[in-house]
Amino acid sequence: MAKPIGFHMGLEEFRRHGYAAVDWIADYYARVETFPVLAQVRPGEVRAALPPEPPERGESFAAMLQDLERVILPGITHWQSPNFFAFFPANTSGPAILGELLAAGLGVQGMLWVTSPACTELETHVLDWLAALLGLPDRFRSSGAGGGVIQDTASNASLCALLAARERATGGESNERGCDGRLVAYASTQAHASIEKAMGIAGLGRKNLRLIGVDAAMALRPELLAEAIRADRAAGKIPCCAVATVGTTSSLAIDPVAGLGQLCRAEGLWLHVDAAMAGTAALCPEFRHLQAGLECADSYCFNPHKWMFTNFDCDCFYVADRSALIRALSILPEYLRNPETEAGAVFDYRDWQIQLGRRFRALKLWLVIRHYGAEGLRHHIRRHVELAQQFAAWVQVDAQFELAVAPVLNLVCFRHRGGDEVNERLLERLNASGRLYLTHTRLGERYTLRFCVGQTHTELEHVQRAWDSIRSAAPQ
Ligand code: PLP
Repeated sequence: MAKPIGFHMGLEEFRRHGYAAVDWIADYYARVETFPVLAQVRPGEVRAALPPEPPERGESFAAMLQDLERVILPGITHWQSPNFFAFFPANTSGPAILGELLAAGLGVQGMLWVTSPACTELETHVLDWLAALLGLPDRFRSSGAGGGVIQDTASNASLCALLAARERATGGESNERGCDGRLVAYASTQAHASIEKAMGIAGLGRKNLRLIGVDAAMALRPELLAEAIRADRAAGKIPCCAVATVGTTSSLAIDPVAGLGQLCRAEGLWLHVDAAMAGTAALCPEFRHLQAGLECADSYCFNPHKWMFTNFDCDCFYVADRSALIRALSILPEYLRNPETEAGAVFDYRDWQIQLGRRFRALKLWLVIRHYGAEGLRHHIRRHVELAQQFAAWVQVDAQFELAVAPVLNLVCFRHRGGDEVNERLLERLNASGRLYLTHTRLGERYTLRFCVGQTHTELEHVQRAWDSIRSAAPQ
């Protein structure tokens, strides 16, 4: 790259444009609050602003940055605005963005240990660090039979868990010959839709996922699970897996992991725990009770790309015994053979995931943990929880609004007392205003607004302004 050869970007040119790109990102963060949080474009508007044909002649980087402003920015929903309270967050931070940049610069593909030993070993090490930071059971560490791996998303982590459960339940038979429709799995009615999708992809069949009822706090009822397992066995089915959610998508309900763990052990079921967003809270010892009982889980996942200041994508997936996972996913064509793999001396993470190739995601996670330190991460997570609880307190004393369920951590589910129609209109008005972005769910059939605090730069002033906007947009 020292001198431009052919059409390539030369090193000096790269350096110059690189500085301009970093400046652009810093400026973007400085003005992010000036944009409407939810993109206000109509379908097709972004494409209509793009040339119909790709360029025959290469263009200048300055022209590309100009189009980033002119064409792309209006079509961006600003997930990094401190006024973003929708879904669950996908927050970022300086160290994570720089980690992404450095990983892109190294440009390694870490499918095998040998294709970049540091890519694999840093990942194993950082995931062991995180297991300690979150107070996860020792059996999830790489020093024993278990270990952690970075997946792109919680969806894929849950799919891998299901494949490992399938492998364990059938001794490899289902992997060789396919499923015969007898394997069944369980999750609550509130579990993420990715579990149902994974059942289809894993060949177990979506219909073989039993959705178990929940209590008033929206948490799975273990006695109903026990009944369902009994009924399935009586019908000749083979129960193989249960998924507990620590922090459901709708209302952040916490399934009773301890009770489910004991039941799954007694019944020989694989227990997977999906803690996609709420898992991050375990950085703070005072929130760890939410995942009590993890010692009985076979696998666990959470997403630093949601609430832990680490750019999308980054899901940490842990297994207590990696052998079933590796048996389910390992394949060794001749061209991947190498002495370290043959000697069994290394982790080859392509055996722990669906796809072959993999990015160097551990780098950004490493930078995030080193930048904040455990102390810094805990500080910001506690702050988000405090802010959400403050918001809930305002809702609670307002005669026009009510809490839909008791607020958990950084999520508040609430509604206007005027009914579904009023709440739907209120949400539309708020999101069209561009001042904030909220989303909804249905709890007990009732339309419910969700307010999730997790963007990196959200502070009391943003939460206060959001509440003011909600109150003034509500029918009086
Ligand atoms: N599980 C839960 C509980 C979630 O809330 C979500 C997304 O919000 C997911 C899984 C899916 O996450 P991902 O986008 O990482 O697949």
